[in-house]
Amino acid sequence: MSQMRILLIVGGGIAAYKSLELIRLLRKSGADVRVILTSAGAQFVTPLSLAALSENPVHTDLFSLTDEAEMGHIQLSRAADLVVVAPATADLMAKAAQGLANDLASTVLLATDKSVLMAPAMNVRMWDHAATQRNLATLQGDGVIFVGPNDGDMACGEFGPGRMAEPAEIHAAILEKLSGAPKPLAGRRAIVTAGPTAEPLDPVRYLTNRSSGKQGFAIAAALAQLGADVTLVAGPVALATPTGVKRVDVETAREMLAACQSALPADIAVCVAAVADWRPADVASQKTKKTPGGGPPPLTLVENPDILATLSKGETRPTLVVGFAAETENVEAYAQAKLAKKGCDWIIANDVSIAGTMGGDDNAISIVTTSGIERWSRLAKSEVADKLAARMAEGLT
Ligand code: C5P
Repeated sequence: MSQMRILLIVGGGIAAYKSLELIRLLRKSGADVRVILTSAGAQFVTPLSLAALSENPVHTDLFSLTDEAEMGHIQLSRAADLVVVAPATADLMAKAAQGLANDLASTVLLATDKSVLMAPAMNVRMWDHAATQRNLATLQGDGVIFVGPNDGDMACGEFGPGRMAEPAEIHAAILEKLSGAPKPLAGRRAIVTAGPTAEPLDPVRYLTNRSSGKQGFAIAAALAQLGADVTLVAGPVALATPTGVKRVDVETAREMLAACQSALPADIAVCVAAVADWRPADVASQKTKKTPGGGPPPLTLVENPDILATLSKGETRPTLVVGFAAETENVEAYAQAKLAKKGCDWIIANDVSIAGTMGGDDNAISIVTTSGIERWSRLAKSEVADKLAARMAEGLT
């Protein structure tokens, strides 16, 4: 690829500090970076930091005589391969959606003939506001690519969608947009379940397990990288949503099944979640209290639906259904039995008795199919995900 030329518009939000890291990553991958800093953005980061990191002068003023003499705003808007807005504030999104052009950033967004990628960052209520959602839909309709926002704690003390995507995610999205690499899963739909489930006993207590969700999230990310339209049905985990992935948060196994079924039809289903096999038969509507001399209350469990087995049958069965088998002994033998019992196409077997597998960053897996067993050596969960996604793409063709 020839040198990437990125025009980065830094809007006015606390997330502007993350754009410094984005510039560093872009420069590291050899990109030429030009920066426009809005006047609100300049309240959060200085032109000097941006100029030092980008190694280019920073543009701030629509009516700057020196800038216009060297590179006019129209030329600036077209000299890049991609225009990136990070942070994209509610105000910048609104201006771009309306076609306003009353400062350098908005004028360049209207004048450019290049693709635009926005990484929104704002308070959760501003993001959820009907006006912002309308502007988002308009901009998506105009072909603007969005990365994030992610869920999480916000500088304003609230929680929810509105946090700017991490610099590494924005960087990956930029590389993906500009690399033009063939996408073997373009046009394909995938469902991935990940994380544990939480099965309530009463309003404050629940049954759950140690699944971190890392492997499932990595697989969702890898499938999306290959162009799939991915719905990630996630149990309660504190992980960032991978770029380009639709995330549905659930708590119980029954909610997870319902979310998977509403995401059908799909070409691929990958059930990575550690779904609770059983749930409490009764959920108390109030917190269960200790009674003097009463002893512990009885715990009666009933079986949960098996999501993998349910998705593996019926008319809506995805072409490729993949399950996981986390075992602590007889891993491959149990996996073979599971393949037949669940009716899926592959079982990815892993030995969770090995320290650091559950919750850790590495995994050693075997792919068990009706035609045999393939053993992989220990790899990072992200590498396992990339290799599995590539294998799934092969499996569909
Ligand atoms: O039966 P077991 O829990 O060992 O099977 C593991 C596989 O089945 C995993 O792919 C898991 O996501 C899936 N599963 C499921 N629904 C359940 C139990 C397991 O989808 N209720």
